[in-house]
Amino acid sequence: MGDFKETFEKVKDHAAIVGRELGKIFEDVGARAGEFIDQTKLAAGIREQERQLECLYAEVGRAVYSAHTDGTESNLDNLYADIAAKVDAIATLKVALDELKKVHRCHSCGREVEKEVKFCPGCGAEQ
Ligand SMILES: [Zn+2]
Repeated sequence: MGDFKETFEKVKDHAAIVGRELGKIFEDVGARAGEFIDQTKLAAGIREQERQLECLYAEVGRAVYSAHTDGTESNLDNLYADIAAKVDAIATLKVALDELKKVHRCHSCGREVEKEVKFCPGCGAEQ
């Protein structure tokens, strides 16, 4: 298990754009800067965010359909912004989880690879 404070600092830098979203997420997973965070909790937090993202996609569908059927003004721009923030937040959390788990990923295809490999077993890219 990694030092969450270190990870949190990295994530915070990376997350200037999605700060509000991430703040909520870290609250959700019960993490505060300087504390150790459980990988399981972080993984559960990511799944929860992914579930909320699916709800947002569904909301876009509903809004588009209402606009089509009865000309209701829909607030799609807000929904799109929420989705973009959540997608960024999830990506950032996944980076944080990789760091906690000391996972290395291929820079080309994103597959999990051993730290020492010279070439990715998935796509063959030099590491
Ligand atoms: Zn690869």
